[in-house]
Amino acid sequence: MNDKYEVFLRDVKNEFSLNIHQALEMIHYFHKEMEMGLAGEKSSLKMLPSFVCPPKGTEKGTFLAIDLGGTNLRVLAVRLLGDGIIETVGVSRFAISDEVMTGTGNMFFDFISRCIEAFLKENHIAQERFDLGFTFSFPVIQSSIDRGVLISWTKGFSVSGVEGRDVVGLLNDALIRNKMESIHISAILNDTVGTLAAGSYMDPLCHMGVILGTGTNACYSEKIKNIKKLKDPFSSDEMFINIEWGGFDRLERNIYDETVDKNSQNPGEQRLEKMVSGLYLGEIAKIVVIHMIEKGYILSMGLQSILTEPYSFTTEQLSHLSSGSDIFKKSGIRISDTDREIIREIACIVSERSARIAATAIAAVVQWIDPRLHNHHHIAIDGSLFEKYPGYKENMQSMLEEIFGDLAKKITLKLTHDGSGIGAAVVSAIEAHKRS
Ligand code: ADP
Ligand code: MG
Repeated sequence: MNDKYEVFLRDVKNEFSLNIHQALEMIHYFHKEMEMGLAGEKSSLKMLPSFVCPPKGTEKGTFLAIDLGGTNLRVLAVRLLGDGIIETVGVSRFAISDEVMTGTGNMFFDFISRCIEAFLKENHIAQERFDLGFTFSFPVIQSSIDRGVLISWTKGFSVSGVEGRDVVGLLNDALIRNKMESIHISAILNDTVGTLAAGSYMDPLCHMGVILGTGTNACYSEKIKNIKKLKDPFSSDEMFINIEWGGFDRLERNIYDETVDKNSQNPGEQRLEKMVSGLYLGEIAKIVVIHMIEKGYILSMGLQSILTEPYSFTTEQLSHLSSGSDIFKKSGIRISDTDREIIREIACIVSERSARIAATAIAAVVQWIDPRLHNHHHIAIDGSLFEKYPGYKENMQSMLEEIFGDLAKKITLKLTHDGSGIGAAVVSAIEAHKRS
């Protein structure tokens, strides 16, 4: 038995721990940042108004949605039955080529228009007029439900002539160019807003939507009187607020976090996201492994091939490793049993911290809405990290129990698959309902 590596691993475990005192401190700061963000003061939580109000659950009709997240464009048609039930009429997925991702604005929006056209043909859907909700998961400043100015592209997109302009207007122009005037874009929203809209249409106890996938973020329903920075009157007494919690910056970081941050595209930004989301967990684990190789605690030479390139070790691989699958054997890498066990342990440490931070952030928001947890709160969660990482949900639940004790039973974490797309159709229905 090599005691030295065990001591080292124990230290790593300590560096990645989030104990109850740190969690309570995080909640305290989270509330402060929420308050400042809502007041329009400088804050690491942007607290962006979405101009979306909670659905009643009685909205009815067939609505279109497009969901532009990372690598795919999804087009959906969804039927709302008016009693909290949603039927998906059709879904199509279109890959976005590099050419489209880095081309001109016209090419990009014409591509989206043609995808909608192909979808309608494929699914034999025809109607005189369609209302469409547009989930657009990029940083946008909204001044109304159907106006969103792109601040800057992220996730490898660099379509020219779009930054600083209203994305709804540009898509509308393309629809007209392509003779698709029957489609009316009624809303632009972000994926967390979609997830909450879908969750709360189906379940009146759902007050919060969370994304735990490539990135992480959350949204909740806030009383208008608390949104101090909102100047214009709004048609409802509540509005969904996109927290942009990935930016929360009051968490203590360790040297591994700092290394990931330093080598990232946006050093200093998205600090919570870099400790929690799927894009980064593999990279954090990789840096710990490299450190252990340098110290001579991990000896297998074959690992170099997956450790040399940035982001070469993925969260999906971590996840498979945590579930006991031998990812190294599958990639033809020879590694000793001890080294495999060490790396598995690191995977567990990194993913457990992610789940505990995510749960603490949820606890902060729930406590903000309902300080004494008088009511039940169902949290709609979308994303592969939450859905697929073994033990992730259980780790979140045990953190909630540490924070709330028995009252944690009042919080239910609910997988809301594809919420971001379905929710766009729900938001479109809310708008149509307002007009009728
Ligand atoms: P997106 O966030 O782009 O909408 P997903 O919700 O599917 O898409 O999340 C994708 C991310 O989830 C990947 O970047 C990866 O980090 C993580 N992931 C993919 N597969 C798994 C898996 N089997 N277990 C855990 N995490 C995974
Ligand atoms: Mg998604």
